[in-house]
Amino acid sequence: MKIEVWSLGPFETNAYLLTSEDDKSCLLVDAPKDAAKKILPIIQSRGLTLTHVLITHGHWDHMCDAHAFVKAGVEVLAHHDDQQLIENIEAYRDRYTAMMPFLTDNDFRSTHVTQWLKHGDTFSALGRTFEARHVPGHCPGSLLFYSATDQLAFSGDAIFAGSVGRTDLPNGNWNQLLQSIRTHIYSLPDATVLLPGHGGSTTVGREKQTNPYAKP
Ligand SMILES: [Zn+2]
Ligand SMILES: [Zn+2]
Repeated sequence: MKIEVWSLGPFETNAYLLTSEDDKSCLLVDAPKDAAKKILPIIQSRGLTLTHVLITHGHWDHMCDAHAFVKAGVEVLAHHDDQQLIENIEAYRDRYTAMMPFLTDNDFRSTHVTQWLKHGDTFSALGRTFEARHVPGHCPGSLLFYSATDQLAFSGDAIFAGSVGRTDLPNGNWNQLLQSIRTHIYSLPDATVLLPGHGGSTTVGREKQTNPYAKP
């Protein structure tokens, strides 16, 4: 499996494209602004088939372009606690344009989720099994997607290399975030590579030892 990452949009949000070397299927983790412009042409020119769009949580910078990737046969996976943010983003426009007045109507387009995941649910993609872990605190519907086969996890904005997600946004909760990290992220094997929603990768073991905000 090949992994490519782009940091896109006003918050440099990571979009990850995972491609199977066997059958040319691919999967996208998060769809920041400009993801469609950058990544769709690559999917097309390589003759890849997109099977899944995973949304780590419903904040605008992670779901903005998801609608552009959706067509028949593409599964869109997210947690139901962020249903309003993902399927009714138009209602949150004022909140975001207060910070980013340069955004336009086209930046606020909802995406229909085809499968709501609960904590512990698994799904098959790219010939392997992914496990969803519910890691709320930064956002109520925050999910982590774990592949034991590859020893990696997409952690969204729950934890970053040397930092954690902010909890001062609406419905953020610091104690809940700490609990999520300690219970559902630090319980992964230490060698697990964490691929977060912003910034570079890290490992579970490194964060357990050095993260100044979330001690085990
Ligand atoms: Zn976020
Ligand atoms: Zn983010």
